[in-house]
Amino acid sequence: MHASEPHEPDRPDGLPLDPTPEAVRELIDAARDRVIDFVRSLPGQPAWSIEKAADAHAWVDEPAPETPGALDDLLETVFERIVPCALNTAGPGYLAYVPGGGLVSAAVADLIAGVVNRYAGVWAAAPGAVELETRALRWLAEIMGLPRDALGVLTSGGSMSSLLAVIAARDGARKKRISGTWYLSSETHHCIFKALRVAGIDPNAVRTVPVDERYRIRLDLLEKQIRADQWRGLRPAFICGNAGTVNTGAVDPLDALADIAARHSAWFHVDGAYGALFRLVEACLDTLSGIERADSIALDPHKGLFLPYGLGALLVRSTAALREAFSSHASYMPALQDGVEHVDFCELSPELSRDWRGLRLWLPLKLHGIRAFRDALAERRALAVHMHDTLASEPDVEIAAPPELSLFAFRRRFGGCPLEEANARNRALLERINEPRRVYLTGTDIDGVFWIRVCVLHLRTDRARVDEALEIIRRALRE
Ligand SMILES: *Cc1c(COP(=O)(O)O)cnc(C)c1O
Repeated sequence: MHASEPHEPDRPDGLPLDPTPEAVRELIDAARDRVIDFVRSLPGQPAWSIEKAADAHAWVDEPAPETPGALDDLLETVFERIVPCALNTAGPGYLAYVPGGGLVSAAVADLIAGVVNRYAGVWAAAPGAVELETRALRWLAEIMGLPRDALGVLTSGGSMSSLLAVIAARDGARKKRISGTWYLSSETHHCIFKALRVAGIDPNAVRTVPVDERYRIRLDLLEKQIRADQWRGLRPAFICGNAGTVNTGAVDPLDALADIAARHSAWFHVDGAYGALFRLVEACLDTLSGIERADSIALDPHKGLFLPYGLGALLVRSTAALREAFSSHASYMPALQDGVEHVDFCELSPELSRDWRGLRLWLPLKLHGIRAFRDALAERRALAVHMHDTLASEPDVEIAAPPELSLFAFRRRFGGCPLEEANARNRALLERINEPRRVYLTGTDIDGVFWIRVCVLHLRTDRARVDEALEIIRRALRE
């Protein structure tokens, strides 16, 4: 700019709500550059960084903005302050909880879905978008080995999927006028207990069944409990199986659970939020055998398919139960389908308006191909097995159970130490492991015993990071 030219403030009126094509390009380019830099710098970013958490409110503590702001400043705030102050859930060192993904191709699908803003809740409003979402769901059902006409609905995640399943099972039991009991193992995710509470299930009708030495539901105790309940005139309404628990990655004997559920005409739900998609991996087929017999499966593409947070799926053997639970009509609504040829997703869940979430599943599956996901999951599993085998050979390391999928828990033995103190020392060990910020692991408490968990599910976790993690853990064990 020449010195003689008057200085023009950048866009004094701010970005119009509906920008010109040129301004759209600038907007997307600015975000694109930030995103590319973010992805490029991930391997060097700390695995966690929350020491400024107490200040976080101050960064955004201002009145509702009446006047426009500058995009560069806003992106600066987001990328330099807000994003870094977090557990780095997009990075290769994230071995905590059950990692999510952050697949860029899914984020691109979200951009497209938002701009074209198709409404996929009702078939008649966007037949193409609904058919595409239906197809993506059918692929998931196929991966699970469900029958051809199985379908379901995309949700925000495993918690919502399980809630919908519980509601459908509840309404089915009510229709049959049975006074039903609900069975799940003590290792079942808390979201199912929450779903039972939200759905108004009587806590006195819920049976928490103990687990075996590998943290799988005890079939003998389940059957014993069912017999005791039947003797009191109660009938099983719902049996939940786990395909990968959060504590130790345990997979319940799903085939046997399917048998028991079938014998009692109970709803068989599988919580596969973490583990179900490992059915893509040949080596896990036996472990997950029986999942294909479920009435409903909760699975999380935002975990097992590496998608960004906010995409779960509930698959059901038959949509009739979902339709009975959630169908609702009004005169101002467009014409609804009979559900045989085409579906209206608003009939299968409580949601009416929602994002076109099918695109964020369909685009990555088509673009990368299923094989890429299968290979990536197989590799995550191999990395977890490698970590397990290495740690299992360390003296004084105790393993809760070897990984069935890609998750295991371990702790250091402190001979002669009372449990309380051994727990405290293991908590300190976890802190030492996380301290260099190259990895982030979390712990859990099982029956009063503290365990450190490793879950390898992040797309960006590679052999180099896993070997670095092992080095860090071994050093911490020796300190
Ligand atoms: C993550 C998870 C859930 C909860 O799913 P959200 O997507 O977080 O709602 C339930 N069960 C298991 C086993 C999980 O790993």
